Formats: sequence, C-alpha cells, structure tokens
Amino acid sequence: MHELSIVLHIIDIAENEAQKAGAATISEIELAIGKLSTIEPAAFDFAWKQGVKNSMLEQAGRITNYIDGKGRCNLCETEFLMETLHQPCPECGEFFSEILEGKELQIKSLRIEEKIKN
Ligand SMILES: [Zn+2]
Repeated sequence: MHELSIVLHIIDIAENEAQKAGAATISEIELAIGKLSTIEPAAFDFAWKQGVKNSMLEQAGRITNYIDGKGRCNLCETEFLMETLHQPCPECGEFFSEILEGKELQIKSLRIEEKIKN
C-alpha cells in the first residue's frame, strides 16, 4: 500500500518543520491533494491512522483539501476539468494535454504547540 509511505513522508517533513520551529507537538495539519495524484482517499485515511502513531502528529487534526484536476489541450489550448489523467479534450478530442492542477501533494499549513521555555 503506497499510501502509507506517502503518509510517513508527510509526517517526516511536518516533524522536521515543527522541530525547526521549536514545537513540542503539532496540533493541526492542512494538506492539499490533487484528484489526479495516485492517492486513494479511503486508503490514505487508513494509512494516516497507522502512520501518525507515536509521531508529533498523533493528536493533530487534519484538514485535507482535494484539488480538482485541470488540463490544457496541447492542440487547441482549451482548458478543462479532468477526472482522470487520460481524458480527451472536450473540444477536439486530442489526448495529449498539459496537467495544470490536480497532481499536487502539499502541506499547506501546520499549527504547532511551542515548548515551554525554561
Ligand atoms: Zn483540444
């Protein structure tokens, strides 16, 4: 299940950032996941529950924004919503298009709890 390795990668980046900022724990994380990425939401949710155990994100709330896919036709430059990676242009039927949005996998924001200073 590749979702777990993606989750562990996200946690890695988030913990790194939080530690740099002197955080004790992460209270909230906001993610952006493109609908054209290979992530399957149910599998991702399941992997998340496993992955955050014993991490700084164990108690963190998670906001996940799924971003619609958007492509631009290579032939007629029409921009259109894409449900799948191999969707033809609705104007001319061309199969080759540039993906503008929908493949992202990003941490949009982190909310951290700072350590109590001595
Ligand atoms: Zn076209």
